[in-house]
Amino acid sequence: MSDIIQLLPDHVANQIAAGEVVQRPASVVKELLENAIDARATRINLLIKDAGKTLIQVSDNGIGMSTTDARLSFERHATSKIKAAEDLFRLKTKGFRGEALASIAAIAHVDLKTKNAEEDTGTVIRLKGSRVESQEPCVTPAGTVVGVKNLFYNIPARRNFLKSDAVEKRHIIDEFQRVALAHPQVAFSLHHNDSELFQLHKANQRQRIVAIFGGKTNEKLVPVDEETEVVTIKGFVGKPEFAKRTKGEQFFFVNNRFVKSGYLHHAVSAAYEGLLQDKKHPAYFLFFEVDAQSIDINIHPTKTEIKFDDERAIYAILKSAIKHSLGQFNVSPSLDFKHDSALDTPYAYRDRKPEVPKIEVNRDFNPFNDGAKKRGARSFDRGRPGNTASWEGLYSGLNTKNTEEFSRIEFESEAVTGDLFSEDEESPQTGIFQLQKKYIVSALKEGMLIIHQHRAHYRILYEEFLKNITVKATLSQQLLFPLTLHFSTRETKMLYEIKNSLEQTGFDFSTIEEDEVKINGIPSVISESEVGVVLDHVLADWEHDIPENKHKNTKFLAQILAKNAAIKTGTPLNAKEQLSLINRLFACKESGLSPENEKVFLRLNAEDLDKKIM
Ligand code: ADP
Ligand code: MG
Repeated sequence: MSDIIQLLPDHVANQIAAGEVVQRPASVVKELLENAIDARATRINLLIKDAGKTLIQVSDNGIGMSTTDARLSFERHATSKIKAAEDLFRLKTKGFRGEALASIAAIAHVDLKTKNAEEDTGTVIRLKGSRVESQEPCVTPAGTVVGVKNLFYNIPARRNFLKSDAVEKRHIIDEFQRVALAHPQVAFSLHHNDSELFQLHKANQRQRIVAIFGGKTNEKLVPVDEETEVVTIKGFVGKPEFAKRTKGEQFFFVNNRFVKSGYLHHAVSAAYEGLLQDKKHPAYFLFFEVDAQSIDINIHPTKTEIKFDDERAIYAILKSAIKHSLGQFNVSPSLDFKHDSALDTPYAYRDRKPEVPKIEVNRDFNPFNDGAKKRGARSFDRGRPGNTASWEGLYSGLNTKNTEEFSRIEFESEAVTGDLFSEDEESPQTGIFQLQKKYIVSALKEGMLIIHQHRAHYRILYEEFLKNITVKATLSQQLLFPLTLHFSTRETKMLYEIKNSLEQTGFDFSTIEEDEVKINGIPSVISESEVGVVLDHVLADWEHDIPENKHKNTKFLAQILAKNAAIKTGTPLNAKEQLSLINRLFACKESGLSPENEKVFLRLNAEDLDKKIM
């Protein structure tokens, strides 16, 4: 048999390698930003078009390259950062494999313009799919500009695999924030399609965090500072009362490189034990310095996992450092078990400080009318009574604008349920009761009905939201004074993106600014005191699963809102509420399934019961 083994041509090898290095536009962003950091830049500008699908451009004022280096930089395994394998254990740079530029050039159109300080003229090189198209001298300031256009132009499968712009942009912002957080001494900017997303000046660590996540972040941070022989840990953790449902603001950096570590995360969680509400996540920005020799850096360039030699020691040190900080800054809330939490405003809302409305938003404000002012402030203070008490508020839509429509529903539902329920349904006490604060059980002529209260209400609210959206007769309750809520800049950006869809469900935003949101009106099925919590949930779910198109947007939002506004398992319901829930459920188009396709109720007829009891 003749020989069959061949060496792959370079451009094919590069394309294969590229598959590992470049998964999406954000991977290119990461590599280019890291190259600029390695080149000791003090200012780095990132410019993105169409979530990186059209253009990713990074310019820096770093050391630049000579003409020869510029050309060489696109060769595979061309790096200035290590010379021998031993160098791997002294690594101070982000890159070292010499793979990134070669990989990127294999799957995109790349322009590189660079000049080092010693030379008078710079070099501009254009490549397409690993091939150098042109190379010329040029006039350019010291530093480097790399432009990457039409990513994956020659691998349609990869290009089609990219997610929506919103999703890809999110990934880019994530990478940008990670690099920017790790290098506060470097100024950064990020522009996307002509709008400026970030302008970060040279700063210290705390200022950088605040510049990225918004002015209100400052008061939420507690410093962590621990120096031991094994590791130095510096940074900040969030006060427990600011913990959120979103996991967004959690960052570990080891020797200034962003890493993910379930193990370290566990140590943080352990330090917060007993301080957090269920399903809440604390923010943290933690920077570890360890001897480069004590970590396994031989990890894949795009992976962010890390392996420490002395993992257990680091776990223990981290946990106690955070506990110490939380204790020292006395931020552990006093735990009072006798306290009736039902009387409280929801946790997340409690720390959104009541704000006296500003004069420009309250047009009727009269400085001489003291009484009116006090009333306003008071209603702001607590909103409606929270938790279980607010359940009645869920019906508030009933007696507003669309009463007519709702009475029709009640009427219809009676027609539908007429033969379902036993004769004496007038008296709600008979035949209907709540079981384990979870189910509503109702006697039928021919058996019984067991209804899952949360899912039932979820279905009801979902259909109401959808109806509001389509008939555009949204049940919006206008607030006496605009409600001010604080979010991180990242969250307000998300809110801004879904503002229109949210407004269709009954929200009325007056302003969405950097880290502050003012709301004039809210869907009537949500009470004022719940708004903060519900929006928190909406953002968490949204971030977790951004839908691919506008149409799905609205449905998805209706679903999240309904889910979060629906009564929870564990909520006691009185007889009237139980009956109303049943009536409204059976007025729904699809009463049998929750919007997530879970069973809403179970029907047992006499036959079933007979069988079971045999
Ligand atoms: P690595 O970063 O692993 O060395 P890259 O392919 O990312 O590999 O880059 C190859 C080489 O090109 C780098 O080692 C560096 O010498 C040079 N280089 C890349 N980007 C820049 C930049 N922005 N400024 C100066 N030199 C750069
Ligand atoms: Mg690199």
